[in-house]
Amino acid sequence: MSGARRRRIGVMGGTFDPIHNGHLVAASEVAHRFKLDEVIFVPTGRPWQKDQAESKPGHRPVSPAEDRYLMTVIATASNPQFSVSRVDIERNGDTYTVDTLRDLRAILPDAELFFITGADALESILSWQNWEGLFELAHFIGVSRPGYELNATHLAQHLETLPPDTLQMLEIPALAISSTDCRERAHAGRPVWYLVPDGVVQYINKRQLYRTRRASSPGVSA
Ligand code: ATP
Repeated sequence: MSGARRRRIGVMGGTFDPIHNGHLVAASEVAHRFKLDEVIFVPTGRPWQKDQAESKPGHRPVSPAEDRYLMTVIATASNPQFSVSRVDIERNGDTYTVDTLRDLRAILPDAELFFITGADALESILSWQNWEGLFELAHFIGVSRPGYELNATHLAQHLETLPPDTLQMLEIPALAISSTDCRERAHAGRPVWYLVPDGVVQYINKRQLYRTRRASSPGVSA
């Protein structure tokens, strides 16, 4: 049908180990401000940046993809605008955002994609695989995050030749929540209630996630 409005779809990529309310508020705010029809959460398969930290003292392996996927499903279930994609966890090898966006474009050829990224991740975007190609696949929305400055001065010269709406910034309610802190809390027996959705607290407890610091990745039982 000619003149039909293209669907506007947000893409929220993350390790989600675990998903927390900072992620959910970011997606909800961007959906409202940019009049998105939907936001797709995409848990990473193997997050290359986090795997690089493996040699650091106190490093904990990333939780199994199925646990992170299920927590993301639980966390987003109550919002009809939110859904979860398995594209990254089903692709072999390291997860790169450029592959995520290519796969989603192939599934949703007529949609306009809006990739949501926190201020911390935006800082490192120039180190992402094939970052020059990223801006051709989606609009980028940088959201504020406590402890990080939200600016794109480091990207200015690269953005000069691109349309002005290639990268836009959005201030969102400041939630000083991180997955790292949630894991440390769960590990130490401190509460994660109200930092993550209730169902995610219950999942963490049931699966006993984050109890051991150096656990090898156990499989998920059915
Ligand atoms: P970790 O502490 O393990 O590094 P994280 O809390 O940063 O994890 P990720 O799953 O790595 O969570 O983040 C996915 C995306 O969500 C990234 O773009 C990140 O910048 C953004 N994000 C995470 N927490 C917040 C928050 N509190 N406010 C705004 N954006 C956030």
